[in-house]
Order: sequence, then structure tokens, then C-alpha cells
Amino acid sequence: MRGDKRVVIVICDSLRADLMGPADTPFLTELSERGCAFAAHRSVFPSTTRASSASIATGCLPARHGLYGNTQALDEGDGLVCRNVGAPDFRDRMRRATGRTLRVPTLAERLRWHGEAAIVCSNVSPGAAYFQDPDGHGTVYHSAGSYGPGLTPIDDPASAALKKGIAGDQAMTERFCADIVEGRAPALAVMWLSEPDYTGHHSPLGSPQHREAIAAADRCVRRVFETVRRLDPTGEDILFITGSDHGMETVSEAIDVTGLLIAAGIKAAPDSRDVVVAPQGTSATIFFSEAARGRARATADFLARENWAGRVVAGAALAQIGLPIDTALRVAVAMATDDRVNPHGIVGYGAIVADPGDPESKIGFGQHGGLGAHEQRPFLVAEGGGFAARVEAGPTSLVDIAPTVLRHLRMDHDDMDGHALPLSE
Ligand SMILES: [Zn+2]
Repeated sequence: MRGDKRVVIVICDSLRADLMGPADTPFLTELSERGCAFAAHRSVFPSTTRASSASIATGCLPARHGLYGNTQALDEGDGLVCRNVGAPDFRDRMRRATGRTLRVPTLAERLRWHGEAAIVCSNVSPGAAYFQDPDGHGTVYHSAGSYGPGLTPIDDPASAALKKGIAGDQAMTERFCADIVEGRAPALAVMWLSEPDYTGHHSPLGSPQHREAIAAADRCVRRVFETVRRLDPTGEDILFITGSDHGMETVSEAIDVTGLLIAAGIKAAPDSRDVVVAPQGTSATIFFSEAARGRARATADFLARENWAGRVVAGAALAQIGLPIDTALRVAVAMATDDRVNPHGIVGYGAIVADPGDPESKIGFGQHGGLGAHEQRPFLVAEGGGFAARVEAGPTSLVDIAPTVLRHLRMDHDDMDGHALPLSE
């Protein structure tokens, strides 16, 4: 089986590839030269943390894994209702409504016979943490509750005390290095930092606060990498992967898509269950009841005429952006983005879809979820495990990480949407 082969992954949530450099990310800059840097790496759609988490865990696009964003309409017996995927109880709601959680196995499930197999430490939303391993094959540590195999609750005061932000990420990193990477040495150890996402959502991109959050994430990655290479100096056994799940754009305005669909006569009322808008930051997915399916075309036509809408996708074309074509999700809209520059010199603006579940103003701060050039610019570096020092110019995606993990562990990996990252040119 795997012998001494192991993989350690660190995700810096929302870190845009073009915001990395010697000043703010000295370690990641050095690592990009020491390892293999993937220069054309992309997120999935919607480019939200929760859909991205499931894609990293499964190697599949949302069409196959079944998690369609940060919010998702479910019919729990009383018609379609938009639910927050980030809530701790979403996976149970999803199981009740659809009979299961994700539709394809996660890395944790595939590694379940490896003894101490997969351990995840996450400081983002409970939903994003739990969809790394929603059915409890390995162990997930999170402030909203930690779970071991069989979804057995673990009393873990250290995780319970974590808060999003720099200090929480640093505390999680120390624990991850000492107890997980060095102490328990699982086949797969994943750590998901809240920064620079947390600060990016609450301050302008490129502001001193945002840059400090980026620098703090860089220090956390360095700390883990130094632990990994102290344990395996040659890099032969432990593959180290670090990257982000998506980037960010600056928010220009918030659009009340639900209100506009009601005004256009497409949706009955704010809480009606005929046509349900699921806000995804800079995009939305729109769900239709059986009786309202005939309104999908009119919805897409309406959206396509709005100047804030970028790409509008409906029907069979949903497959082109990695969404299913056989569910209540019938229309998706990615907001238009442009190349205006914010007060801190950071390029890229886009509108967001107003979210009644998250009413605080985001104008002027960072957001993501759509197909904009900068929100679709996560970074990715692989070091050790046979990766040579070079820059890979070919396109790669979040879904390529899981097959790369399995290849390193000498396991089958040919039934995923992604492909193992190329070791050499
Ligand atoms: Zn994220």
C-alpha cells in the first residue's frame, strides 16, 4: 500500500495568485521556485469556498459531487427553500432531502482503510470544513464541532476556541504541525486557513489589513512546510501541496436578483417556492420547482438583458460550467466584472447578488463566486513527491488535487473529473 508515503495540504482561502510576491508572501515566493508552480490554475463554478472544498476533496466538479455553492435550494418536503451550506446542520438537511451528502467519494472515504487516514483542520465555515469529509470516514477539527470516524463527536477544546482571523489561523497551525503532521502522521493531512479570505471580506483588497492577512497566511504555510521537511528532508515520501480555492474581486454594488425576478413576473413572492435564487457572492444559481420549470428560459433571457449580468447559462449549457443538467438548478448567472482598479491598486470589480441571509454591506471589499478573471485565479504549488522545480503553464484546476494525492499514495485515481498534476514537462 502506501508505505511511508504521505500528503500534507495547506489551503490559504481566497489568496489571489497575483497578490503574491516577495514583500507579502516571501515564503510562498521562495516555495514557487523550489517546487512546481501551476501558473494557469483555476477554481470551479461557483467559485465559493464550500463548492471548492467539495471539489478539492472529491476531484470532481459540482455537477458530479452535488454541492452547488455556498447556498443551495433543497426540497425538504415542503418545496424549494434556499439553505446556507455553511451552517453546521446543512449536511444533515442535505441527507434528509436527497438521501445522501456528496454523490462521489471524498479522499477521506477512499483512504478509510489506511488506519489513521485523513485528518482535516479547518478555520473557515462549518459547511466548508465538513464537506471535506461529510460522512465521517476520517477526522475533521472545527470550532463548531469536531468529529472522528463514524461522525463520533470529539471533545476538542483547542478547536472549539478557534476564531477566524490571523490569531486563530496561527493557533491552528501550531496544533496542526505538532499533533497532526508530526504526532499522528496520517496519510493525508489538510489544513484550511481562514486568511486572507476573512480579512478580504471585511476590508479593501490590497489595504494594509488585507496585506497583513496575506503575510500571516504565508507564515502559517512556512511553519507547516518546515515541519514537513524536517520529517522528510529529501521530499521523497511527503508530498506538500499548498494553494488557494479561488481569488477575489472588489464589490461594486449589490443586485437584488430576487426582487427583479418578482418585478418581471417570473417569481411569485420573496419567499415563494416556485423560483428560488441561491446567492453565491458574484454569481447566483437559480432553482425551479417542477411547475415552474417552463420559466427557466424566460429567466435566462431576462438576466441576459441586464448590464450587471456577465455570463448567463441555462439548460444543457450548464454542463460547460460544471453544473448538473438534470436537477432543479436550471439557470446560473455570473456577474459582469471589469478591470477598474481599487484605491489600493488592485484590479478587478464586479457586482454581487444581494443575499437576504447576509445583509451587511460588502461594497468596496472583496468577494468571489463567479467567473471573473481575478476570482478565478487561485494559486497552486506542489513540492516533493517527485515534483521538479519548474513552472507549469498548462491549465490546472482544483479537481486535479485529489487525483494527485492518490497517485502519490499509489492508489487508483482514474474515475475523477480531474487529472493528476504533471510531474514534468
Ligand atoms: Zn474560499
